[in-house]
Amino acid sequence: MTAQATAIANPNAKRPVSGNTLSSRKNEAMNTQPSMTEQQIEQLVAGQRHYHRTNVTLPVAFRLAQLNKFRDLLREHEEELYIAIDKDFGKSKHHTQLTETFPLFEELEMAIKNVGKWVKPRKVATNLLNQPGKSYIVPEPLGVTLVIGAWNFPYNLSLIPVVGSMVAGNTTILKPSELPAETSRVMARLINENFDANYLHVVEGGIPETTALLNQRWDKIFFTGSPQVGKIVNVAAAPNLTNVTLELGGKNPAIFAEDAAVDVGVKRLVWAKFVNSGQLCLAPDYVLVHKSIKDRVLERMVHEIKKHDYSVENGNFVRLINERNFDRIAALIDPDKVYYGGDLDREERVIQPTIMHNVTVDDAVMQDEVFGPIISVVEYDTLDEAFAIVRDLEKPLAGYLFSTNEATKQRFLREIPFGSGAINDAVMQNTNSNLPFGGVGNSGMGRYHGEYSFECFSHMKPVLEKANWVELDLKYYGHSDRQMKWIRRLG
Ligand code: NAD
Repeated sequence: MTAQATAIANPNAKRPVSGNTLSSRKNEAMNTQPSMTEQQIEQLVAGQRHYHRTNVTLPVAFRLAQLNKFRDLLREHEEELYIAIDKDFGKSKHHTQLTETFPLFEELEMAIKNVGKWVKPRKVATNLLNQPGKSYIVPEPLGVTLVIGAWNFPYNLSLIPVVGSMVAGNTTILKPSELPAETSRVMARLINENFDANYLHVVEGGIPETTALLNQRWDKIFFTGSPQVGKIVNVAAAPNLTNVTLELGGKNPAIFAEDAAVDVGVKRLVWAKFVNSGQLCLAPDYVLVHKSIKDRVLERMVHEIKKHDYSVENGNFVRLINERNFDRIAALIDPDKVYYGGDLDREERVIQPTIMHNVTVDDAVMQDEVFGPIISVVEYDTLDEAFAIVRDLEKPLAGYLFSTNEATKQRFLREIPFGSGAINDAVMQNTNSNLPFGGVGNSGMGRYHGEYSFECFSHMKPVLEKANWVELDLKYYGHSDRQMKWIRRLG
């Protein structure tokens, strides 16, 4: 550790400091009886299947009416959403607006504006062999869908997929995460009191309810959560060959090349790392920094962190979701490697922004997704070395490069696999609905947002329609060599 680093590192890292007034707001997993029995869940799904078979969800007018109703309901009760999430993990109204409700309303408006266009068949060219004829792709609702949400952005990650399911003409059962109990409850109350259970319904609960839901036959399962549970979902979907989208997590690298624009890059990185207290699937997990700029990057990180007062009370920070996660993250902090921060408050479930340096791939913090407010800085010498570190790990949900060099950008795009990414920024790719959002390999499969959500919850059914006034004999039996040549040419 450098002399300067020693001065700013917190010697009490890993040692809990006492909390103060807000301990009564602590939240642990929801402690309730199973909200529904397996038999009730079976009936609910059967009801939705029957309802979907009546084709009532197909007309654009129906979808528009439901989407408008959903938007108006959420608008009317918006304040309740903010109160609930604040109770759950101290998330402020502005923070919730920026990261949850603004994107949710944007998705709703986009769906309302475009549903008429999206449902139309998409024309494609027809090859000569099939002339005279036309070809098109017809979007078809998948049917009865299950959406399982994660806790870290409870409205965003539960309700944006629901919008996708609705606009595509499906029926939907939502199972929000049980960890933020108040947000789960408010979503269940608003939806279940206002929508026909045969069309849209919320089932609250944890593992028993999710397991009971997964035992049903679905036409689509959309899951957001950890790779570990994603595998359970995939196994449950297999017997019925159910269409699955898995939005999972991973260790997202941020690579600072030697030619990076450090000041602006670190500013963007620090915001992306500590928004939602690092409880963000797209957050940069570790930072690979070229040795020539390491000291500068570290200094700028501290500078950027110090510019803001990271506190739950002023709305700049949120609590860690529960004590289990607090303990897990706290255990990753190696006091010998803390460059800045490391203040822990278990009572309040808050860990101040923490920078660890001289981190190696063998450190505990590099073994699994951090999902909390720790930045680990790993120094490298050559890009080959940095890329090898990334590629030795599972394919991440996001990849970030900070560089001004075109050749480095091209290498990054070509050689580093990731679900989605950014160059000279982090996380912000997710705010552009024209870009799909999803993982690859261990970080998931499938993609959504905007029109991609519509496609995610649809079967894009390809159709060839032939004219009847002529039929070429080419495809029938007894081909001569000359006919074969024609078939080959007409393709
Ligand atoms: P989680 O996998 O623990 O829980 C997700 C959902 O699965 C919850 O609704 C939960 O009730 C249910 N569940 C948990 N254990 C289960 C089991 N054994 N059987 C059946 N269902 C079960 O994930 P989490 O803690 O809510 O979220 C954190 C993880 O999610 C991180 O890995 C993060 O990266 C990832 N994540 C991904 C995205 C994305 O969009 N790709 C977004 C947010 C979070």
